[in-house]
Amino acid sequence: MNHLYSPPIARLIEEFEKLPGIGHKTAQRLAFHILNLPAEKSENLANAIREAKLKTRYCSICSNITESDPCSICGSVKRDHGVICIVEDPKDVIAMERIREFNGVYHVLHGVISPMEGIGPEDIRIKELLQRIHDGNIREVILATDPDVEGEATAMYISRLLKPIGIRITRIAHGIPVGGDLEYADEVTLAKALEGRREL
Ligand SMILES: [Zn+2]
Repeated sequence: MNHLYSPPIARLIEEFEKLPGIGHKTAQRLAFHILNLPAEKSENLANAIREAKLKTRYCSICSNITESDPCSICGSVKRDHGVICIVEDPKDVIAMERIREFNGVYHVLHGVISPMEGIGPEDIRIKELLQRIHDGNIREVILATDPDVEGEATAMYISRLLKPIGIRITRIAHGIPVGGDLEYADEVTLAKALEGRREL
């Protein structure tokens, strides 16, 4: 269908279509919206994308997205560096930080184990987690992956890996509906899930 457009417009639509949750129709709508913008506004959008990418990186300790390395959480003396909360992606760190009840640090896996999608343990940041636990004085690991099939499987896999090390391993409670997403849990639910975490 894209051959109906001139090549620059077709390219813009194609790029939008690669984004999560954007189908052809939405991509087309966004592309034409941008073409209708004053030059300055479309410049702003392009620059915001470029800068966000250029000025951020992964924290070398927790793998969260950050402007400075280590990130402000890993670099803080006010945080308890003996407790690591393991989450699937950077959006989950934001969700946890919003409840202001967790004073430990994080480890961002950047995905979950999913045999269906061909994602194995080596494709997410488990190796980095193990390294970190071997290096530091970690007392507790809280598994806060989503309560869906992949999240549970990933939590189980990590807990089995860590068991022999002898640190406390907990799983956040099921205040979050099964199949739910940490990122969308409201603050009270998430705080309860954290408080009600159980030993594995
Ligand atoms: Zn960090």
